[in-house]
Amino acid sequence: MLLDGIRKLKPQMPAAEELIKQVACAWNYSCYFGECDSCSDVKQVLTEKGLYLTDDDSTAAACKYQQWNRDSVKTEITSTLHDTMSEFVEQLNAMKCHVYIAKTDTLAQAEFRQQRSSNPRRFL
Ligand SMILES: [Zn+2]
Repeated sequence: MLLDGIRKLKPQMPAAEELIKQVACAWNYSCYFGECDSCSDVKQVLTEKGLYLTDDDSTAAACKYQQWNRDSVKTEITSTLHDTMSEFVEQLNAMKCHVYIAKTDTLAQAEFRQQRSSNPRRFL
């Protein structure tokens, strides 16, 4: 995964779940779907937090990570830190939407189960 490769070179980079929280200002649809003025530019948010490329980073440093190809085979990719970071920003946007959908689905399911257990007759 891209992030694993980045974290080898930038150990201050948080793990995925924490990172996604950091690049969204609040738990709401517009933040997670890139419609919020303050956090839709993930690259900008990472830069402000000192998590994008900084003067301490060697942008040409080799960055290796595993990736699944179309045939579901794991291959090792070697790129530069610079290219990996730009690709990662794209992925983060997609991950934000994905995380939001996954969590809201779980919440909707939990609510449904709770309703069912507090008022079982409604579902008979
Ligand atoms: Zn926001």
